[in-house]
Amino acid sequence: MRGLEAGVDRTATLTLLDAKRTSPEDKGFLHTILSGAVMTRHRLCRAQLCPDNVCQFCDSEEVENEQHLWWVCTAWRDVRSQHIEAMLPYSESWPTCFRWCGIMPESNDAFVSLGEWFSEGDARQACALSALAGRTQELVVDGCVVVFTDGACRNNQDARFRRAGFGAYWFDNSPQNISCELEGWAQTNNRAELMAVIVVAEQEPRAVIVRTDSKYVRNGVQHNLAGWRESGWRGVCNADLWQRLDDALRARTASFRTTKVRGHSNMRHVKLGLVALEDMIGNNAADALATQGADRHRVDRETLLMANNKRFLASAVQRMMVAILQARAACATQACGPHSRSTSRISISDESMAADFPEHSTDVNLVIISDSEDEVQAPLAAYSEQPARHSSHPISAAPVFTVPRHASQLSSSFSYTGRSAPAAPD
Ligand SMILES: [Zn+2]
Repeated sequence: MRGLEAGVDRTATLTLLDAKRTSPEDKGFLHTILSGAVMTRHRLCRAQLCPDNVCQFCDSEEVENEQHLWWVCTAWRDVRSQHIEAMLPYSESWPTCFRWCGIMPESNDAFVSLGEWFSEGDARQACALSALAGRTQELVVDGCVVVFTDGACRNNQDARFRRAGFGAYWFDNSPQNISCELEGWAQTNNRAELMAVIVVAEQEPRAVIVRTDSKYVRNGVQHNLAGWRESGWRGVCNADLWQRLDDALRARTASFRTTKVRGHSNMRHVKLGLVALEDMIGNNAADALATQGADRHRVDRETLLMANNKRFLASAVQRMMVAILQARAACATQACGPHSRSTSRISISDESMAADFPEHSTDVNLVIISDSEDEVQAPLAAYSEQPARHSSHPISAAPVFTVPRHASQLSSSFSYTGRSAPAAPD
Protein backbone atom coordinates (compact mmCIF):
# COMPACT_ATOMS: atom_id res chain seq x y z
CA MET A 1 0.00 0.00 0.00
CA ARG A 2 2.99 2.28 -0.27
CA GLY A 3 2.07 5.59 -1.85
CA LEU A 4 -1.57 5.09 -1.00
CA GLU A 5 -1.61 6.61 2.45
CA ALA A 6 -3.31 9.91 1.71
CA GLY A 7 -7.07 9.73 1.73
CA VAL A 8 -7.24 5.97 2.17
CA ASP A 9 -8.88 4.21 5.09
CA ARG A 10 -6.05 1.74 5.45
CA THR A 11 -7.64 -0.18 8.30
CA ALA A 12 -10.78 -0.93 6.31
CA THR A 13 -8.93 -1.54 3.07
CA LEU A 14 -6.45 -3.99 4.56
CA THR A 15 -8.73 -5.85 6.97
CA LEU A 16 -9.28 -8.82 4.69
CA LEU A 17 -5.69 -8.87 3.46
CA ASP A 18 -4.34 -8.90 7.01
CA ALA A 19 -6.82 -11.48 8.29
CA LYS A 20 -5.23 -14.74 9.34
CA ARG A 21 -8.11 -16.69 7.84
CA THR A 22 -7.51 -15.32 4.33
CA SER A 23 -5.68 -17.98 2.35
CA PRO A 24 -2.42 -17.15 0.54
CA GLU A 25 -4.20 -17.73 -2.76
CA ASP A 26 -6.94 -15.26 -1.89
CA LYS A 27 -4.30 -12.78 -0.76
CA GLY A 28 -2.78 -13.09 -4.22
CA PHE A 29 -6.13 -12.21 -5.78
CA LEU A 30 -6.49 -9.32 -3.35
CA HIS A 31 -3.10 -7.90 -4.26
CA THR A 32 -4.16 -8.01 -7.89
CA ILE A 33 -7.48 -6.30 -7.16
CA LEU A 34 -6.12 -3.63 -4.82
CA SER A 35 -3.27 -2.74 -7.16
CA GLY A 36 -5.70 -2.39 -10.08
CA ALA A 37 -3.86 -5.11 -11.99
CA VAL A 38 -6.81 -7.30 -12.94
CA MET A 39 -6.39 -8.24 -16.59
CA THR A 40 -9.82 -7.35 -17.89
CA ARG A 41 -10.50 -7.65 -21.58
CA HIS A 42 -10.34 -3.88 -21.72
CA ARG A 43 -6.79 -3.90 -20.37
CA LEU A 44 -5.66 -6.76 -22.58
CA CYS A 45 -6.98 -4.89 -25.58
CA ARG A 46 -5.16 -1.73 -24.60
CA ALA A 47 -1.98 -3.76 -24.25
CA GLN A 48 -2.68 -5.07 -27.75
CA LEU A 49 -2.94 -8.62 -26.51
CA CYS A 50 -6.40 -9.12 -27.95
CA PRO A 51 -8.35 -7.46 -30.78
CA ASP A 52 -11.39 -6.16 -28.90
CA ASN A 53 -12.49 -5.24 -25.41
CA VAL A 54 -15.85 -7.01 -25.36
CA CYS A 55 -16.67 -9.25 -22.41
CA GLN A 56 -16.17 -12.90 -23.33
CA PHE A 57 -18.28 -14.26 -20.52
CA CYS A 58 -21.74 -12.84 -21.18
CA ASP A 59 -23.88 -11.85 -24.16
CA SER A 60 -24.06 -8.17 -23.33
CA GLU A 61 -21.42 -7.11 -25.89
CA GLU A 62 -20.32 -4.62 -23.25
CA VAL A 63 -16.75 -3.59 -22.63
CA GLU A 64 -15.26 -5.77 -19.93
CA ASN A 65 -13.81 -3.21 -17.59
CA GLU A 66 -13.81 -3.34 -13.80
CA GLN A 67 -17.30 -1.88 -13.52
CA HIS A 68 -18.68 -4.56 -15.82
CA LEU A 69 -16.67 -7.34 -14.22
CA TRP A 70 -17.54 -6.67 -10.58
CA TRP A 71 -21.04 -5.22 -10.76
CA VAL A 72 -22.73 -5.88 -14.12
CA CYS A 73 -21.61 -9.01 -15.97
CA THR A 74 -24.39 -11.60 -15.82
CA ALA A 75 -21.89 -14.45 -15.95
CA TRP A 76 -21.07 -13.81 -12.29
CA ARG A 77 -24.61 -13.23 -11.07
CA ASP A 78 -24.59 -16.43 -9.06
CA VAL A 79 -21.33 -15.52 -7.42
CA ARG A 80 -22.63 -12.08 -6.52
CA SER A 81 -25.83 -13.50 -5.08
CA GLN A 82 -23.71 -15.26 -2.48
CA HIS A 83 -22.34 -11.91 -1.41
CA ILE A 84 -25.47 -9.91 -0.79
CA GLU A 85 -23.78 -7.95 1.97
CA ALA A 86 -21.62 -6.45 -0.76
CA MET A 87 -24.38 -6.08 -3.37
CA LEU A 88 -27.31 -4.71 -1.37
CA PRO A 89 -25.71 -1.48 -0.22
CA TYR A 90 -24.10 -0.92 -3.65
CA SER A 91 -24.21 2.69 -4.74
CA GLU A 92 -23.13 4.48 -7.89
CA SER A 93 -21.91 7.23 -5.62
CA TRP A 94 -19.16 5.04 -4.22
CA PRO A 95 -15.86 6.39 -5.46
CA THR A 96 -14.26 4.51 -8.32
CA CYS A 97 -11.28 3.41 -6.23
CA PHE A 98 -13.71 1.42 -4.09
CA ARG A 99 -16.04 0.14 -6.82
CA TRP A 100 -13.15 -0.93 -9.07
CA CYS A 101 -10.25 -1.73 -6.73
CA GLY A 102 -11.81 -2.31 -3.32
CA ILE A 103 -9.88 0.59 -1.82
CA MET A 104 -11.91 2.28 0.92
CA PRO A 105 -11.46 6.06 1.05
CA GLU A 106 -11.00 7.95 4.30
CA SER A 107 -13.94 10.22 3.53
CA ASN A 108 -17.29 9.04 4.85
CA ASP A 109 -19.33 11.10 2.39
CA ALA A 110 -20.39 8.28 0.08
CA PHE A 111 -21.12 5.91 2.95
CA VAL A 112 -23.34 7.87 5.33
CA SER A 113 -26.39 5.97 4.12
CA LEU A 114 -24.95 2.77 5.54
CA GLY A 115 -26.24 3.87 8.92
CA GLU A 116 -26.47 0.87 11.13
CA TRP A 117 -26.60 -1.53 8.22
CA PHE A 118 -23.66 -3.56 9.39
CA SER A 119 -24.02 -2.95 13.07
CA GLU A 120 -22.38 -5.80 14.86
CA GLY A 121 -24.69 -5.28 17.79
CA ASP A 122 -23.73 -3.67 21.00
CA ALA A 123 -21.50 -6.24 22.59
CA ARG A 124 -21.19 -4.02 25.60
CA GLN A 125 -24.53 -5.22 26.91
CA ALA A 126 -23.24 -8.75 26.96
CA CYS A 127 -20.87 -8.00 29.76
CA ALA A 128 -23.03 -8.02 32.83
CA LEU A 129 -22.31 -7.90 36.48
CA SER A 130 -23.98 -11.27 36.72
CA ALA A 131 -20.59 -12.70 35.93
CA LEU A 132 -19.73 -11.71 39.46
CA ALA A 133 -21.68 -14.46 41.09
CA GLY A 134 -19.11 -16.59 42.67
CA ARG A 135 -17.66 -15.81 45.98
CA THR A 136 -19.01 -14.11 49.04
CA GLN A 137 -15.72 -14.02 50.85
CA GLU A 138 -12.13 -13.99 49.86
CA LEU A 139 -10.21 -17.10 48.95
CA VAL A 140 -7.18 -17.86 51.10
CA VAL A 141 -4.57 -20.45 50.13
CA ASP A 142 -1.53 -21.21 52.31
CA GLY A 143 -2.11 -18.04 54.25
CA CYS A 144 -2.13 -15.94 51.08
CA VAL A 145 -5.18 -14.11 49.79
CA VAL A 146 -5.97 -15.06 46.20
CA VAL A 147 -6.70 -12.22 43.75
CA PHE A 148 -7.73 -12.74 40.14
CA THR A 149 -6.62 -10.18 37.56
CA ASP A 150 -7.46 -9.62 33.92
CA GLY A 151 -7.06 -7.09 31.14
CA ALA A 152 -9.54 -6.42 28.36
CA CYS A 153 -9.42 -4.51 25.12
CA ARG A 154 -12.41 -3.19 23.20
CA ASN A 155 -12.51 -2.67 19.43
CA ASN A 156 -9.41 -4.77 19.09
CA GLN A 157 -9.85 -5.11 15.33
CA ASP A 158 -9.34 -1.40 14.75
CA ALA A 159 -6.20 0.15 16.21
CA ARG A 160 -7.74 3.61 16.00
CA PHE A 161 -10.47 2.71 18.48
CA ARG A 162 -8.72 0.25 20.74
CA ARG A 163 -9.63 0.92 24.37
CA ALA A 164 -8.29 -1.19 27.20
CA GLY A 165 -9.25 -1.68 30.82
CA PHE A 166 -8.20 -3.85 33.72
CA GLY A 167 -9.82 -5.58 36.64
CA ALA A 168 -8.88 -7.30 39.88
CA TYR A 169 -11.27 -9.50 41.80
CA TRP A 170 -11.15 -10.47 45.48
CA PHE A 171 -14.78 -11.53 45.98
CA ASP A 172 -18.24 -10.30 45.02
CA ASN A 173 -18.77 -6.70 46.05
CA SER A 174 -15.44 -6.52 47.81
CA PRO A 175 -14.51 -2.86 48.32
CA GLN A 176 -11.05 -3.81 47.07
CA ASN A 177 -12.27 -4.95 43.63
CA ILE A 178 -10.79 -2.84 40.85
CA SER A 179 -12.31 -1.90 37.52
CA CYS A 180 -10.43 0.82 35.64
CA GLU A 181 -9.77 2.15 32.17
CA LEU A 182 -6.16 1.99 31.01
CA GLU A 183 -4.56 5.39 30.70
CA GLY A 184 -2.23 6.59 27.97
CA TRP A 185 -2.16 6.34 24.21
CA ALA A 186 -0.86 2.76 24.06
CA GLN A 187 -4.07 0.79 24.48
CA THR A 188 -3.14 -2.87 24.42
CA ASN A 189 -4.29 -5.97 26.17
CA ASN A 190 -0.82 -6.73 27.50
CA ARG A 191 -0.54 -3.33 29.13
CA ALA A 192 -3.94 -3.81 30.71
CA GLU A 193 -3.00 -7.26 32.03
CA LEU A 194 0.17 -5.81 33.45
CA MET A 195 -1.58 -2.85 35.01
CA ALA A 196 -4.00 -5.17 36.82
CA VAL A 197 -1.10 -6.95 38.53
CA ILE A 198 0.58 -3.65 39.36
CA VAL A 199 -2.43 -2.28 41.24
CA VAL A 200 -2.70 -5.50 43.27
CA ALA A 201 0.99 -5.32 44.13
CA GLU A 202 0.55 -1.69 45.17
CA GLN A 203 -2.77 -1.93 46.98
CA GLU A 204 -2.84 -5.33 48.71
CA PRO A 205 -0.49 -5.22 51.69
CA ARG A 206 -1.09 -8.84 52.74
CA ALA A 207 0.63 -11.91 51.32
CA VAL A 208 -1.03 -12.49 47.97
CA ILE A 209 -1.28 -14.97 45.10
CA VAL A 210 -2.24 -13.29 41.84
CA ARG A 211 -3.97 -15.55 39.34
CA THR A 212 -3.71 -14.15 35.83
CA ASP A 213 -4.61 -15.65 32.46
CA SER A 214 -1.76 -13.75 30.81
CA LYS A 215 1.29 -15.76 29.90
CA TYR A 216 3.03 -12.49 29.12
CA VAL A 217 2.60 -11.25 32.69
CA ARG A 218 3.35 -14.60 34.34
CA ASN A 219 6.58 -15.12 32.36
CA GLY A 220 7.66 -11.53 32.93
CA VAL A 221 7.22 -11.70 36.68
CA GLN A 222 8.62 -15.19 37.15
CA HIS A 223 11.50 -15.25 34.68
CA ASN A 224 12.43 -11.89 33.20
CA LEU A 225 12.00 -9.11 35.72
CA ALA A 226 15.40 -9.42 37.42
CA GLY A 227 17.26 -9.69 34.12
CA TRP A 228 15.48 -6.68 32.67
CA ARG A 229 16.31 -4.61 35.73
CA GLU A 230 19.98 -5.49 35.42
CA SER A 231 20.01 -4.58 31.74
CA GLY A 232 18.58 -1.16 32.58
CA TRP A 233 15.24 -1.99 30.88
CA ARG A 234 16.86 -1.48 27.52
CA GLY A 235 14.72 -2.75 24.66
CA VAL A 236 12.00 -4.03 26.98
CA CYS A 237 8.48 -3.66 25.64
CA ASN A 238 6.22 -1.78 28.11
CA ALA A 239 9.30 -0.96 30.17
CA ASP A 240 7.49 1.83 32.02
CA LEU A 241 4.97 -0.60 33.47
CA TRP A 242 7.45 -3.38 34.18
CA GLN A 243 9.58 -0.87 36.03
CA ARG A 244 6.61 0.27 38.05
CA LEU A 245 5.77 -3.34 38.89
CA ASP A 246 9.36 -4.00 39.88
CA ASP A 247 9.35 -0.97 42.20
CA ALA A 248 6.07 -2.07 43.75
CA LEU A 249 7.29 -5.61 44.33
CA ARG A 250 10.53 -4.47 45.92
CA ALA A 251 8.65 -2.11 48.21
CA ARG A 252 6.47 -4.96 49.48
CA THR A 253 7.08 -6.70 52.78
CA ALA A 254 4.53 -9.48 52.32
CA SER A 255 4.98 -12.24 49.78
CA PHE A 256 3.73 -11.95 46.20
CA ARG A 257 3.29 -14.80 43.77
CA THR A 258 1.72 -15.11 40.34
CA THR A 259 0.19 -18.20 38.78
CA LYS A 260 -1.41 -18.69 35.40
CA VAL A 261 -5.02 -19.80 35.04
CA ARG A 262 -6.94 -20.73 31.94
CA GLY A 263 -8.75 -17.71 30.53
CA HIS A 264 -12.34 -17.54 29.21
CA SER A 265 -13.30 -20.95 30.54
CA ASN A 266 -16.75 -22.25 31.31
CA MET A 267 -18.44 -25.15 33.09
CA ARG A 268 -17.50 -27.51 30.27
CA HIS A 269 -13.83 -26.90 30.98
CA VAL A 270 -14.47 -27.43 34.67
CA LYS A 271 -16.20 -30.75 34.01
CA LEU A 272 -13.32 -31.84 31.79
CA GLY A 273 -10.95 -31.05 34.62
CA LEU A 274 -9.13 -28.38 32.60
CA VAL A 275 -9.72 -25.68 35.14
CA ALA A 276 -10.75 -25.55 38.80
CA LEU A 277 -14.20 -24.15 39.52
CA GLU A 278 -12.79 -21.41 41.75
CA ASP A 279 -10.40 -20.34 38.98
CA MET A 280 -13.15 -20.25 36.39
CA ILE A 281 -15.32 -18.08 38.63
CA GLY A 282 -12.46 -15.82 39.62
CA ASN A 283 -11.14 -15.32 36.11
CA ASN A 284 -14.56 -14.62 34.64
CA ALA A 285 -15.25 -12.09 37.36
CA ALA A 286 -11.92 -10.37 36.76
CA ASP A 287 -12.70 -10.36 33.05
CA ALA A 288 -16.05 -8.69 33.65
CA LEU A 289 -14.39 -6.02 35.80
CA ALA A 290 -11.71 -5.43 33.15
CA THR A 291 -14.31 -5.13 30.40
CA GLN A 292 -16.30 -2.64 32.44
CA GLY A 293 -13.09 -0.73 32.93
CA ALA A 294 -12.46 -0.63 29.18
CA ASP A 295 -16.00 0.63 28.66
CA ARG A 296 -15.30 3.66 30.86
CA HIS A 297 -13.37 5.14 27.96
CA ARG A 298 -15.47 7.59 26.07
CA VAL A 299 -15.61 6.64 22.39
CA ASP A 300 -17.87 8.48 19.99
CA ARG A 301 -20.39 5.84 19.04
CA GLU A 302 -21.22 7.33 15.66
CA THR A 303 -17.58 7.43 14.62
CA LEU A 304 -16.96 3.92 15.83
CA LEU A 305 -20.03 2.58 14.05
CA MET A 306 -19.06 4.23 10.77
CA ALA A 307 -15.55 2.81 11.01
CA ASN A 308 -16.95 -0.66 11.72
CA ASN A 309 -19.38 -0.37 8.82
CA LYS A 310 -16.65 0.65 6.43
CA ARG A 311 -14.40 -2.13 7.57
CA PHE A 312 -17.19 -4.65 7.14
CA LEU A 313 -18.24 -3.27 3.76
CA ALA A 314 -14.69 -3.20 2.40
CA SER A 315 -14.16 -6.83 3.39
CA ALA A 316 -17.53 -7.86 1.93
CA VAL A 317 -16.88 -6.16 -1.40
CA GLN A 318 -13.34 -7.46 -1.62
CA ARG A 319 -14.52 -10.98 -0.79
CA MET A 320 -17.01 -10.79 -3.63
CA MET A 321 -14.33 -9.52 -6.01
CA VAL A 322 -12.04 -12.40 -5.09
CA ALA A 323 -14.87 -14.88 -5.65
CA ILE A 324 -15.65 -13.38 -9.06
CA LEU A 325 -12.00 -13.47 -10.03
CA GLN A 326 -11.79 -17.10 -8.98
CA ALA A 327 -14.90 -18.02 -10.96
CA ARG A 328 -13.60 -16.09 -13.93
CA ALA A 329 -10.21 -17.80 -13.79
CA ALA A 330 -11.87 -21.21 -13.62
CA CYS A 331 -14.12 -20.26 -16.51
CA ALA A 332 -11.22 -18.96 -18.58
CA THR A 333 -9.21 -22.15 -18.23
CA GLN A 334 -12.25 -24.21 -19.27
CA ALA A 335 -13.05 -21.77 -22.07
CA CYS A 336 -16.67 -21.58 -21.11
CA GLY A 337 -19.06 -18.72 -21.77
CA PRO A 338 -21.00 -17.71 -24.86
CA HIS A 339 -17.91 -17.40 -27.05
CA SER A 340 -16.37 -20.68 -26.09
CA ARG A 341 -17.10 -22.57 -29.27
CA SER A 342 -15.23 -20.20 -31.51
CA THR A 343 -12.62 -19.48 -28.92
CA SER A 344 -9.04 -20.54 -29.16
CA ARG A 345 -6.80 -20.52 -26.20
CA ILE A 346 -3.18 -19.73 -25.77
CA SER A 347 -1.79 -20.51 -22.45
CA ILE A 348 1.61 -19.59 -21.30
CA SER A 349 2.73 -22.18 -18.86
CA ASP A 350 4.89 -21.46 -15.89
CA GLU A 351 7.61 -23.67 -17.36
CA SER A 352 7.87 -21.91 -20.69
CA MET A 353 7.92 -18.56 -18.96
CA ALA A 354 10.66 -19.83 -16.74
CA ALA A 355 12.67 -20.91 -19.75
CA ASP A 356 12.23 -17.70 -21.72
CA PHE A 357 12.17 -15.17 -18.97
CA PRO A 358 14.29 -16.40 -16.14
CA GLU A 359 14.25 -12.92 -14.64
CA HIS A 360 10.44 -12.97 -14.63
CA SER A 361 10.07 -16.64 -14.17
CA THR A 362 7.79 -16.89 -11.21
CA ASP A 363 4.09 -16.64 -10.71
CA VAL A 364 2.99 -16.17 -14.26
CA ASN A 365 0.21 -18.01 -15.94
CA LEU A 366 -1.64 -16.21 -18.66
CA VAL A 367 -4.55 -17.53 -20.62
CA ILE A 368 -5.64 -15.52 -23.61
CA ILE A 369 -9.09 -16.22 -24.90
CA SER A 370 -9.52 -15.16 -28.44
CA ASP A 371 -11.99 -15.40 -31.31
CA SER A 372 -9.39 -14.37 -33.80
CA GLU A 373 -7.73 -17.10 -35.85
CA ASP A 374 -4.82 -14.80 -36.69
CA GLU A 375 -4.17 -14.07 -33.12
CA VAL A 376 -3.70 -17.72 -32.40
CA GLN A 377 -2.14 -18.82 -35.66
CA ALA A 378 0.70 -16.32 -35.78
CA PRO A 379 2.13 -17.26 -32.44
CA LEU A 380 1.57 -20.94 -33.13
CA ALA A 381 3.57 -20.61 -36.33
CA ALA A 382 6.32 -18.88 -34.44
CA TYR A 383 6.13 -21.60 -31.89
CA SER A 384 6.54 -24.46 -34.33
CA GLU A 385 9.48 -22.74 -36.03
CA GLN A 386 11.54 -23.43 -32.95
CA PRO A 387 10.86 -27.10 -32.35
CA ALA A 388 14.17 -27.86 -30.74
CA ARG A 389 13.81 -25.22 -28.15
CA HIS A 390 10.32 -26.20 -27.15
CA SER A 391 10.43 -29.90 -27.70
CA SER A 392 9.31 -30.52 -24.19
CA HIS A 393 6.08 -28.64 -24.91
CA PRO A 394 4.38 -30.34 -27.84
CA ILE A 395 1.48 -28.45 -29.31
CA SER A 396 -1.68 -30.01 -28.04
CA ALA A 397 -5.24 -29.14 -27.29
CA ALA A 398 -4.02 -26.39 -25.02
CA PRO A 399 -0.98 -25.12 -26.89
CA VAL A 400 1.87 -23.63 -24.98
CA PHE A 401 3.08 -20.38 -26.36
CA THR A 402 5.89 -18.10 -25.39
CA VAL A 403 5.23 -14.39 -25.32
CA PRO A 404 7.43 -12.00 -27.28
CA ARG A 405 10.23 -10.28 -25.41
CA HIS A 406 8.57 -6.92 -24.98
CA ALA A 407 5.71 -8.56 -23.17
CA SER A 408 7.99 -9.35 -20.29
CA GLN A 409 7.44 -5.77 -19.21
CA LEU A 410 3.86 -6.72 -18.62
CA SER A 411 4.61 -9.84 -16.72
CA SER A 412 3.98 -8.25 -13.36
CA SER A 413 0.36 -7.79 -14.42
CA PHE A 414 -0.13 -11.30 -15.72
CA SER A 415 -2.25 -12.33 -12.84
CA TYR A 416 -5.14 -12.89 -15.17
CA THR A 417 -5.89 -16.44 -14.18
CA GLY A 418 -5.20 -15.66 -10.59
CA ARG A 419 -3.10 -18.76 -10.17
CA SER A 420 -0.67 -16.56 -8.34
CA ALA A 421 -0.12 -12.92 -7.76
CA PRO A 422 2.45 -10.34 -8.71
CA ALA A 423 4.64 -8.88 -6.02
CA ALA A 424 2.56 -7.22 -3.37
CA PRO A 425 2.51 -3.46 -3.11
CA ASP A 426 2.81 -3.12 0.64
ZN1 LIG B 1 -19.83 -9.79 -19.11
